[in-house]
Amino acid sequence: MQSVTSASVLTERVAEAKRQGLSIGLVPTMGALHEGHLSLIRRALDENDFVVVSLFVNPIQFNNKEDFEKYPRTIDADLKLVGALPQDANQLLAFVPSVEEMYPEPTDGIHYDLGMVAEVMEGPRRPGHFNGVAIVVRRLFDLTQPNRAYFGEKDFQQVAVIRSLLRTIQYPIDLVACPIVRADDGLALSSRNTRLSPAARSWAPMIYDTLMQAVEMSEYEDVETVRLWVVDTLASAHEVSPQPDGLCFEPEYFEIVDDTTLQPIERWRAAKGVVGCIAVWLDGVRLIDMVRFR
Ligand code: AMP
Repeated sequence: MQSVTSASVLTERVAEAKRQGLSIGLVPTMGALHEGHLSLIRRALDENDFVVVSLFVNPIQFNNKEDFEKYPRTIDADLKLVGALPQDANQLLAFVPSVEEMYPEPTDGIHYDLGMVAEVMEGPRRPGHFNGVAIVVRRLFDLTQPNRAYFGEKDFQQVAVIRSLLRTIQYPIDLVACPIVRADDGLALSSRNTRLSPAARSWAPMIYDTLMQAVEMSEYEDVETVRLWVVDTLASAHEVSPQPDGLCFEPEYFEIVDDTTLQPIERWRAAKGVVGCIAVWLDGVRLIDMVRFR
């Protein structure tokens, strides 16, 4: 595996791969890699002759300065993890650009209409976030012109937003949505998990436990009852089992939505596919997760 920091070297390598008729897979990440990222990279290596993994903490997708500053950066360990994956010689290229290399021109004037999928849940709560995601993903698409791009369902709304971006820019790229990888105790793997205290980390699996119970409840309760139950269960969990250091879950939202339009539904049968998406604060860390109901 090779790693490059220069966008022009990246495009040369991609052009060479294209000349050889190789298929190209792209896996965009912000580094601090874990098994969730590695599952995407493994799949890309399985399905493509040449794979670009980008590692770039994208400043313009953070609406919260502190979150950007505290975002874990472990580039040396990341490159070791990626290099250790089974791969053919010259099959994998890591792209680790600086901000200037990623954005040689100002991005302030770029605004994508990402449609209604960007207007719910994370959209209004993280102003500018999805536009920042769209800008970086578009730039990566331009630099690598992949046949396939790999994203995790952990960020379920992000997948829908990128589908919407692809419809707008009309690039012939297959978006491959990959299932969430969880720790043994059920917590969705996330780079931000490393910021949880030991007490918070051991309590955090309650999020997934609650979502799983919600799925069972959906057999006999209506949508709004299940939705409120999830929010209340997490918000009052510290009353039921008091935690050290005043730890508590602070749910920001839990929405039960059509898995294509991402609009909230009122009845289980209102959509062919139904998912629940949650954002919840714990120990100063914002965690997101999702579960499929139908
Ligand atoms: P990030 O570095 O957080 O921007 O994530 C890069 C890609 O990895 C995104 O497409 C994420 O959805 C995906 N990803 C992150 N965590 C997981 C996970 N636990 N399971 C599957 N995919 C994940």
